[in-house]
Amino acid sequence: MRVEIVPCLRDNYAYLVSTDDGTECAVIDPSEAPPVERALERCGLTLTAILNTHHHHDHVGGNSELRLSRRGLAVFGHTSDRGRIPEQTRFLEHGERFEVVGLEFSVMHIPGHTTGAIAYITEGAVFTGDTLFAAGCGRLFEGTPRDMFESLNQKLAQLPDTTLVYCGHEYTANNLRFAASLEPTNQAILQKLEQVLARIGRGEPSIPSSLAEERATNPFMRTASPELRASLGLSGDADSVSVLAATRAAKDEF
Ligand SMILES: [Zn+2]
Repeated sequence: MRVEIVPCLRDNYAYLVSTDDGTECAVIDPSEAPPVERALERCGLTLTAILNTHHHHDHVGGNSELRLSRRGLAVFGHTSDRGRIPEQTRFLEHGERFEVVGLEFSVMHIPGHTTGAIAYITEGAVFTGDTLFAAGCGRLFEGTPRDMFESLNQKLAQLPDTTLVYCGHEYTANNLRFAASLEPTNQAILQKLEQVLARIGRGEPSIPSSLAEERATNPFMRTASPELRASLGLSGDADSVSVLAATRAAKDEF
């Protein structure tokens, strides 16, 4: 599988996904059309599907313009986002599988950031939108701390360590600084921060991460960490959902 990272707006990422030698691709979360059109041209790829992780404008903003010149282009999103994702044609349920551009995708419903948030899983990669970021998670606009806890730690956490994580924004350095503030002795966080700053310094994306890296560095997947709990003023027997809630509240103020 080939994944072309397409920077959009200020810090969003769209992704062109195709087979290694395919000429057709799907785009995940086209924030805006022009950078996606330029990437299609540069890569010599034909767009045949739009996969949206959730309804926010910086993830669906390019849908209508991309579809203007491509009538019949399929637009995928969660069934509950009907009426919120522009031009949506496919209404997905948790666990559903579908095939586009020669790749089989499966759908994981991961509410928390929004009620209709989904992840797309294919070929050892997961596209997580604004639910799981590298070293972070999205704000809880429509979901509860329990929703986010279950999405990250019961659903996404089932994926193998080697799964590559492609998320919706370049927030990784700031997320890792926050993670280091909660777990100052966690070497995995400090090492990854150093690597990420070097990559960003070279003008490269920090994406993809991996599930193994997230388990080691992401405070929202590390609610059991005694050091993290102590930093938040919580005891060892606090329940994991309240630890996630306190972590999210602390990040909102960071
Ligand atoms: Zn969002």
